[in-house]
Amino acid sequence: MARKKILVTGATGDTGDTRISKTPLVDKGFASVRKIGNGLYATISDWSKGNTTVCNGGFLVGRDAALLVEGFATPAGASFQMDALRMVSQAPVKGALDTHYHLDHSIGNAFYGTRGIEVWAHSAAARRIVDSYTPLQGADQAAALGAFEKRVKDAKSEVERAHAQSDLNAFKTVFQLANASVLAVPNRPLDPAKLPMKVELGGLTAVIESYPGHSGTDMVVRVPEQNVVYTGDLLANGWYPACLDEKTTVFGWRATLETFASWDKDTLFVPGHGQLCGQSGIAAVREVFDDIAEQTGNMFKAGVPAEEAQHRYVVPTKFENFFMFSWGFTIGGAITQLYAEWREEK
Ligand SMILES: [Zn+2]
Repeated sequence: MARKKILVTGATGDTGDTRISKTPLVDKGFASVRKIGNGLYATISDWSKGNTTVCNGGFLVGRDAALLVEGFATPAGASFQMDALRMVSQAPVKGALDTHYHLDHSIGNAFYGTRGIEVWAHSAAARRIVDSYTPLQGADQAAALGAFEKRVKDAKSEVERAHAQSDLNAFKTVFQLANASVLAVPNRPLDPAKLPMKVELGGLTAVIESYPGHSGTDMVVRVPEQNVVYTGDLLANGWYPACLDEKTTVFGWRATLETFASWDKDTLFVPGHGQLCGQSGIAAVREVFDDIAEQTGNMFKAGVPAEEAQHRYVVPTKFENFFMFSWGFTIGGAITQLYAEWREEK
């Protein structure tokens, strides 16, 4: 019985999907790598065990070439995944794809630079890495965190204070990650207008596609022949969706999830965070968005200001185990964004 319990709570998630190898290729605590298909591997992170990788990723290995997914939160994280790839194949690496520009998916790019590996990403990703993270590098921590600390101090209620504190904690992590590594930007921009793009690896075809939602730079890697998708942060399984980006679009994201839900019922998703999942993972995050939209819609119609609405949202019992990066970077952001999108619609 104990064995069964490990299977349902481990990195394989609760999919029961027989494509997922029960034995990891490698497990370092902060992340493990396992086979999930023919030539397909998933790197699943456990953030509670350190900041080396933070996000999930993986690699695809064909007869002739390999494709890496994600740059992770540190060069050591990218190096860890490269070592795992070399345990199963010596094929030349065509490229390493950052599914979007956020630092937990891109800051380890410097490792790829040292190996002469091309870093692929949405054509807007390089600029956004520079604009978002170079101002943090070398900045004074107290100054960088000042606005967040002020919100904690000025909070008008305990609820608001707790939300502000969660945002401060999350931003502190971002600040520290941005300062811990040398930035390296993608050198092969992928124009979303020219996607989908097929990547032939030799007996294995991957397709890179772009969808709106999380960051304005989101890409997924699909393997249609095997019904496997590496989603980046368009899916964080069992997490409240991170709506922290100025380019987040809730309308767009919900439409993207509807598309994911229309794919084969046996699709295996490698989410940007959280455990591997099937369509139930997509259904759950769609329900979260439905709930946010429902609670927010009522407040919007009643004329509650957006600033107040984001603190009034109540996490339903069924989602109370969902991980939240911080209140403002998930629910708060979603509600502010929904207000803006509804206003625009009028
Ligand atoms: Zn992200």
